[in-house]
Amino acid sequence: MKTLENIRFVLVGTTHPGNIGAAARAMKTMGLTNLHLVTPKIYPSAEATARASGADDVLANAAVHDSLDAALVGCQQVYGMSARLRHLPVPVVNPREAVTQIQQQSDDAQIAIIFGREHSGLTNEELDRCQHLVNIPANAEYSSLNLAAAVQVLAYELKMSFDPSIEVGRVGEQREAINADDLEHLYSHFEQSLIKIGFLDPGQPKNLMRRLRRLFNRAELDRNELQILHGILRAAENQKGE
Ligand code: SAH
Repeated sequence: MKTLENIRFVLVGTTHPGNIGAAARAMKTMGLTNLHLVTPKIYPSAEATARASGADDVLANAAVHDSLDAALVGCQQVYGMSARLRHLPVPVVNPREAVTQIQQQSDDAQIAIIFGREHSGLTNEELDRCQHLVNIPANAEYSSLNLAAAVQVLAYELKMSFDPSIEVGRVGEQREAINADDLEHLYSHFEQSLIKIGFLDPGQPKNLMRRLRRLFNRAELDRNELQILHGILRAAENQKGE
């Protein structure tokens, strides 16, 4: 099974220890723990620990290397995070595309995602080590995120893609699906009721039923909601009958 443990975040030449702590925190909130530091300016540091605020275990387990090569040992795929789109012969993807690619790798593939220095990013030599560049599409006039913020964006996308308990459009209750027959039955009930209560003139129906169909088709009704609508129609018919 593919796991987030095979994905390492590599921070290269980080200047501010606070950013290292904030990056550890960003990772831990998304279930990532594999942090590698390449020649950090000031580390270990009380400021890093303070900014990690509860993610100090991720910091404590971080591997510190004296070269990028050492941090990439055993990695099959290397992604480089770049705020600037340089003219390099390397494909540039956004974080979501990068994560989709990562999902397609074999389960045991080791993946590295590398982040550059606060002031100057990654050098060309460091970018040469990357098979893919990842750019977070940002404001064209102000596109450089804080280092830990960039870490957060990637970590979030990984979590969204790797955590099977996250379903898009999830709701808190079980919704029983209905089928096309159920909808047809609802529409004919609507038609009869609306005629009965005097809202729909069968001699001049205009587009009312078509519009109602469009409305309810968009709503993706479940069985419970379908029953509520039938109930309302029956109640309206009974009111009219009284
Ligand atoms: N001034 C630097 C940006 C440094 S920000 C430059 O122009 O390259 C520190 C690191 O955060 C960057 O090296 C990169 O790894 C990451 N980062 C910041 N903004 C990003 C963005 N929009 N897309 C991808 N990575 C980004």
